[in-house]
Amino acid sequence: MAKHVIVIGGGAAGLMAARYALNAGAEVTLLEKNEKLGKKLYITGKGRCNLTNACDFDALMKQIPRNPRFMYSAFSLLDNQGIMRLFEEMGLPLKAERGERVFPASDHASDVTYALERYLRANGCKIMLSTAVEALICENGALTGVKTSRGDMRCDAAVLATGGLSYPSTGSTGDGYRFLKALGHSITPCRPALTGIETEESWCADLMGLSLKNVSLSAWGEKNGKRRLLFSEQGEMLFTHYGISGPIALSLSSALDDKFRGTELRLDLKPALNEDTLDARLLREFARMPNKQLISCMDTLEPHALGEAVLSLADISPYQPINSVTQAQRKAIVRLLKGIPLTVKGLRGFDEAIITRGGVNVKEIDPSTLESRFVKGLYVAGEVLDVDAFTGGFNLTIAFSSGALAGKSAGESV
Ligand SMILES: Cc1cc2nc3c(=O)[nH]c(=O)nc-3n(C[C@H](O)[C@H](O)[C@H](O)COP(=O)(O)OP(=O)(O)OC[C@H]3O[C@@H](n4cnc5c(N)ncnc54)[C@H](O)[C@@H]3O)c2cc1C
Repeated sequence: MAKHVIVIGGGAAGLMAARYALNAGAEVTLLEKNEKLGKKLYITGKGRCNLTNACDFDALMKQIPRNPRFMYSAFSLLDNQGIMRLFEEMGLPLKAERGERVFPASDHASDVTYALERYLRANGCKIMLSTAVEALICENGALTGVKTSRGDMRCDAAVLATGGLSYPSTGSTGDGYRFLKALGHSITPCRPALTGIETEESWCADLMGLSLKNVSLSAWGEKNGKRRLLFSEQGEMLFTHYGISGPIALSLSSALDDKFRGTELRLDLKPALNEDTLDARLLREFARMPNKQLISCMDTLEPHALGEAVLSLADISPYQPINSVTQAQRKAIVRLLKGIPLTVKGLRGFDEAIITRGGVNVKEIDPSTLESRFVKGLYVAGEVLDVDAFTGGFNLTIAFSSGALAGKSAGESV
C-alpha cells in the first residue's frame, strides 16, 4: 500500500513537492490554509511570474548570497534549466526576457499555478484548501502526523513548505518557523530582504515617483578597519516617500549585513562616464549656453527635479548664470553626479519585502534529502530555509528546486 505524504503549504515549493512525491509513488495530501493555491505566486513578477532564469549554473549560484552550496543536491535534481523543461512539458510555454528572466509566454502568473494544480489533480493528489496546519505531531523523534484546523491527520512523512514572513496577506505568516522551533530547530533571525531602503536624506521624498535607468548604486562600509566597497550594481532605481526602491535598491537591501543602519551609499548618475569626461561634457554645455541659468544645463543631463536636487546639495542656485559658475562649483556638481551620498536609516518591513532573509538553520537539514536532522520524516523546502537570492527569478528557482528534492525524498523515504 502506498504510504501517505502530507505537503504543508500550496505555494511554489509545496506544489512542486507534491508533484515529486506523487511521482515517487506516494499518496499525497496537500494542505493550504488559503481558499486557493498559489496566492503569492499570483502576484510575483508584477502578475507575470518570473519563475526562473535561463542563466548558466555559475551565474545561478552567484545570485544566491546566503548558503548557495546547500542547494547543490536540489539543483542536481531540478535546476533552472530543468524547471523550464518541466513547465514546458506540463503545457506551459515560456519566454526569456532581459537578464534571461523567464516568464510564461501568456504573461499570466496564474498559469504557473494552474499548470502544477492541473498535474496534481490529474495524478490523484488530494488538495485540501482552507485547512491550516497548527502543529506537527512527533513520536519518538519521527513525524507521525499534523494537527490541522479540521482535526488531526496521520502521515508517514511531511514536507513543510509554509514560506517566510513577507507579504503576510498571501498566507506567509511564518508558521513554519514556529513549528520547527517547537521541535528544537534553531531559526537564523528573520528580516525583510529585497525591500525598499529608508534614507536619512529627506530630499528623496521630493523626487517621489522619479525612476532612473542605467544608474549605479554602491554601499560602502568598514571591514577590518578599512573602508571597502560592499556592494555595487547598475540598473534601475526609484525615489519614494521614504527613500529609494526599484531593482538595484532591492538587491542592495539584501546585500546589507545586520548592522545596516548608517551604511553609506553612493548613487552614480553617470556610471558610463568618468569624472574627467563628465567635466568635459559640462564645459561643452556651458560653452553652448553661457548666458542661460545653470538649471538649463542640468536639464540636458538629468530630469529637472533631480538636477535641482543636485544643485541644492552643491549649495548652488539653479538660477545662477552659467557664465558666473566657478571651477570649484563645477567640480562639486561633477562629484555629485558621480556619487550622491545617501545614508541607510532603515529597511521597509515584511509587508513590502519580496522575501524573508533568515530561516531554519541549514546545518540542521540534510542537504541531500532536505530531511530534518532532528525529526525523521520531516522535510523542509522553500523560503522557510535560510537560503535566499537576488531578483531575477532566483527565489522561485530555490522554491521549486528545494520543493522537488523534499517531495521526492519524502515520497521515497516511505
Ligand atoms: C510581490 C512579490 C513578487 C515576487 N516576485 C518574484 C518573482 O517574480 N520571481 C521570483 O523568483 N520570486 C519572486 N518573489 C519571491 C517568491 O514569491 C517567494 O520566494 C516564493 O513564493 C517562496 O515560495 P514558498 O513556496 O516557499 O512560499 P509561499 O509562496 O509563501 O507559499 C507558502 C504557502 O504556505 C501556506 N501556509 C503557510 N502557513 C500554513 C499553515 N500553517 N497551514 C497551511 N498552509 C500554510 C501559505 O498560505 C502559502 O500559500 C516575489 C515575492 C513577492 C512578495
